[in-house]
Amino acid sequence: MPGPNDTYRAFYLHWGDHPVRLIPRMRSTWREQFVGDTAAWTADLLHRQADGDPLWHGDLAEPVGDTEWLYLIHQHHAAVEVHTPTTDDRWQLYSRHLLATHPDDLFVFTGDAVRCSGCGTVDEVEFATRATTEADAKPDAVMRCENCGRTETTTSNFATHRAST
Ligand SMILES: [Zn+2]
Repeated sequence: MPGPNDTYRAFYLHWGDHPVRLIPRMRSTWREQFVGDTAAWTADLLHRQADGDPLWHGDLAEPVGDTEWLYLIHQHHAAVEVHTPTTDDRWQLYSRHLLATHPDDLFVFTGDAVRCSGCGTVDEVEFATRATTEADAKPDAVMRCENCGRTETTTSNFATHRAST
């Protein structure tokens, strides 16, 4: 869960995984167990602290340590922001994902793969970030099909934009 000024609270999971596999699991938990109620889900996660799961209080500016992925649930946007370490052990944005899925989603996460619905290829999606033109804005997250070139860009406010090349 993100906090003010790039701080966060998080739980350690040993099954931390690439978003292609973990995002579908988070989506199904959100949808089936919490009926799309993001506030209830995050409240439940925070409640686990009382059951003995240690809650980390971190800061995105701190060195990473030995964690491979950081998933931050943005309650207000019903969305998840994924961070991964740089080679010098700092967190950097990896991707952004809305929890809700739609039949016309460009990139479909099947649970173990990601399919481009534009051209049908599987697992040829590049994840990238792109600086925005606004000086103090956070970078955009971009998914791009390496086969057909279609892209989906998600801003730090979780607005998505698609382009065909
Ligand atoms: Zn494609």
